[in-house]
Amino acid sequence: MKNCWICGDLADSAEHMIKASNIKAMFGKIDNGHPLFRRIDDEKHERIAGIKSEKLKFEKSLCSGCNNARTQKHDKAWEKLSNYLLVRSPKIDVGERIRLRPVFNDGLRKGMLGVHLYFLKLFGCLIIENEIPLDSQEFANCILNDYAHPNVYLSFLVVKNQNIKKQAAISQVTYIQKGEFVSAQWMYIVGSIAVNVTLASSVRPNKREVHLWHPTSFDKHIVLDQLGKRAY
Ligand SMILES: [Zn+2]
Repeated sequence: MKNCWICGDLADSAEHMIKASNIKAMFGKIDNGHPLFRRIDDEKHERIAGIKSEKLKFEKSLCSGCNNARTQKHDKAWEKLSNYLLVRSPKIDVGERIRLRPVFNDGLRKGMLGVHLYFLKLFGCLIIENEIPLDSQEFANCILNDYAHPNVYLSFLVVKNQNIKKQAAISQVTYIQKGEFVSAQWMYIVGSIAVNVTLASSVRPNKREVHLWHPTSFDKHIVLDQLGKRAY
């Protein structure tokens, strides 16, 4: 068995690639009468037995303490924000500024740090699983000590494409290194909302087409961009 990349204990737990509550919200109950299929890149669709299926999880790279108790508040924070964006009426649209106060009425800054740390956990699992040459220890320190990774940004995107809208998906990590400059990007999609997760050793604020959100911006809103525009 491997060791938990967050705390170093034995890794007896596997994180869901897509949050179970996001899958339930999109697809409802999953059983023999209501099957769910998964597809990796261009492979054939594969039937998923249920929400707890190993096929919806990363390999075991966390201990159950880290995957559950330690990061539960981060999971809950994303659950709150994603539920809000998915069910809001009128429907969310490109260019919209979403006020965060109604989503996190019990503490906006803590709530959004939780969202950042939720995606940091998934990012760490992706790094380990795909052997991406990024320092998972820095990710672990952020989760252990409740602070934001200085180089990881989130972009919140509206999905317009009707086919993509029907999916819950997580992309591969695109890793680029040019001399001192390092960047890594991946995407999390649940129906009409996608989150682009970007690690960049430096960012050029004027060159990008989508907003990069970071917990230290202390904004009380996020701006929604359109899926398909370049994040970096
Ligand atoms: Zn652990």
